[in-house]
Amino acid sequence: MLRSARNNSRIPSALLRSTRSVRSVITPTTKSSFSVLASKSLHRNKPATSRLRPAFAIVRSFATIKDATPQQQEEADEVLFEPREADEIDVCIVGGGPAGLAAAIRLKQLDENDELRVIVLEKASDMGAHILSGAVLEPRALDELLPEWRDDPPEPLTMVQSEAMRFLTKSMSIPIPEPPQMHNKGKNYIVSLNQVVKWLAEKAEALGVEVYPGFSVSELVYDEETGAVKGIATNDQGVSKNFQPKDSFQRGMEFHAKVTLLAEGCHGSLSKKVINKFDLRKDSDPQTYGIGIKELWEVPEDVWKEGFVGHTMGYPLDSETYGGGFMYHFGERLVSVGMVMGLDYPNPWLSPYQEFQNMKRHPFYANVLKNGKCLSYGARALNEGGLQSIPKLSFPGGALIGCTAGFVNVPKIKGTHTAMKTGMLAAEAAYTSVVEQKAQLEAAEEAEEEIKLAPIQLESYEEAFKNSWVYDELHEVRNVRPSFHSPLKLLGGVLYSGLDTFLLKGKTPWTFHHKTTDAAATMPADKYKPIDYPKPDGKLTFDILTSVSRTGTNHDDDEPCHLRVKNGHDLDAHTAKSYPVYKGVENRFCPAGVYEYVADETKPEGVRFQINSQNCIHCKTCDIKVPTQDIDWTVPEGGDGPKYYMT
Ligand SMILES: Cc1cc2nc3c(=O)[nH]c(=O)nc-3n(C[C@H](O)[C@H](O)[C@H](O)COP(=O)(O)OP(=O)(O)OC[C@H]3O[C@@H](n4cnc5c(N)ncnc54)[C@H](O)[C@@H]3O)c2cc1C
Ligand code: SF4
Repeated sequence: MLRSARNNSRIPSALLRSTRSVRSVITPTTKSSFSVLASKSLHRNKPATSRLRPAFAIVRSFATIKDATPQQQEEADEVLFEPREADEIDVCIVGGGPAGLAAAIRLKQLDENDELRVIVLEKASDMGAHILSGAVLEPRALDELLPEWRDDPPEPLTMVQSEAMRFLTKSMSIPIPEPPQMHNKGKNYIVSLNQVVKWLAEKAEALGVEVYPGFSVSELVYDEETGAVKGIATNDQGVSKNFQPKDSFQRGMEFHAKVTLLAEGCHGSLSKKVINKFDLRKDSDPQTYGIGIKELWEVPEDVWKEGFVGHTMGYPLDSETYGGGFMYHFGERLVSVGMVMGLDYPNPWLSPYQEFQNMKRHPFYANVLKNGKCLSYGARALNEGGLQSIPKLSFPGGALIGCTAGFVNVPKIKGTHTAMKTGMLAAEAAYTSVVEQKAQLEAAEEAEEEIKLAPIQLESYEEAFKNSWVYDELHEVRNVRPSFHSPLKLLGGVLYSGLDTFLLKGKTPWTFHHKTTDAAATMPADKYKPIDYPKPDGKLTFDILTSVSRTGTNHDDDEPCHLRVKNGHDLDAHTAKSYPVYKGVENRFCPAGVYEYVADETKPEGVRFQINSQNCIHCKTCDIKVPTQDIDWTVPEGGDGPKYYMT
């Protein structure tokens, strides 16, 4: 029996025996016993890392060192930096969201003789547990991927039956025309995307994909000779907050792959590195983002309107702030209510969380929610840059798929279908290249020759994207979101978008650009007045900690803070740069109360910066919006983070 790293639960010896065999079967074509483990681990409610640990990750009795002597530190470093074990696979997919799972499914559909090893690594403890969306699902990509999906659909699945678009003033709700791209009635479905992802993971597994929830991928592994990405490494487990190995320490594991597909969703932490390393954004605009905040409610029968989709603009957002609200009635008396707010808002006193609470006070929302019950809460950033902000998609050894590249159709507020389709296109390109490489390797083996193959470069995926319906869709709406940057702000944007979506349909010779990042768009606090948000009533509106408790989020107290402040986590240096100008903007943009400035007279600014990383819900807003750009969101231990329910 082996003790689990995180919760001291016991790993059955049968599983341990199967992990032991992994050591001797590391070949590209042999299915290792990891797949056996994966199938056992997929739907359990524990981090798979602890169960999936191979036999070589021996539990050490290593005390956590607080004030280490140089010798103790050296010993600790020997453990921390010991070489990792590596496994050879064909395609490694980082992120088990719609993009990653669609790619995995397409690969195994093409691999009719079951010769490829395809793995999906997901940081959530359970598939779907980190997924948050609206969600109205346009089924176009799903129809192409699994044409028979309606025979065994994900639950709940509610066809859109009616829809409305409103402009809100503080108390009024004025009907406005809905752009044609936003029509959902009779063709799209209201779903819980985290349930859809669980369902997709089952489909992938049934086709032979190895699906590993509970794995945070923390590093890309590069080929020393070519500089190409040759795979990934998972995060070490059992490291203390002082970066010392604990008794439960387990070194991460490497997966070497012919192709690595990054499917991390919006603003992926590895994608960020790869974009910089290979200068993938050289010919594109900066990416811009929104933050989406959402609650799931159960409401009384008399206010629930099955299949209703409502979208609003205006109140409570000011004319400098892009965004709007949504309300989707689905399942059994369930209502998803949320707000998406552009992160290019200049006023640092704004709090997206409080704006969302305000939005629910409007009668359009309050009349539905007031006698209901809030069941869950969550938040996630989403891309808003559109076509002109998509970076180069391929790099030596892999590619970006889904929202980590940025395929959201902003006027539609939809990115699931485009994420899935780009995953499928990348999979098709990867399949051809991997099969070719395998054939070359086999021929060389037969001829007893040693060959070093050039890294795979998925240029054909880039081409396939340009010839796809995803490109056409994004091209048509490319000017809508940037039109809100004009000097006329909201009014200019509404007028131009109306013209563009109803008449021009993107067939103009010009393309508007995003000139700046969301961080740089933030203005100093002294340019605006502080905002006094009303107190929550605990029925319709809630304080932030009550909401966080509805996310189920958790991170070990004694693990390194995954929100790394640059220059050696120097919180005082961050405070000196940020606080005098932005007066605690971090506290207001974070939808989970992670950042605090606590009064402290011993500090020059009179405050101490505190990071309550246990509360983090992995929305990535801090990394995007912090004006000083010195907070780096990194992956925590696998299995940490929210445990979203029906989001
Ligand atoms: C509030 C809101 C409302 C939305 N409404 C709609 C809608 O109505 N319709 C629609 O079509 N789209 C909607 N979207 C957009 C849609 O959710 C996304 O386009 C879609 O989820 C993108 O899929 P993805 O697979 O690219 O990324 P994601 O769904 O974000 O999945 C990425 C996965 O990768 C995992 N991951 C990330 N990094 C790592 C790592 N390093 N190691 C291991 N795992 C990792 C994450 O935990 C996650 O599970 C909405 C988004 C938001 C935020
Ligand atoms: S700390 Fe950052 S990623 Fe975590 S919830 Fe707050 S803003 Fe989001």
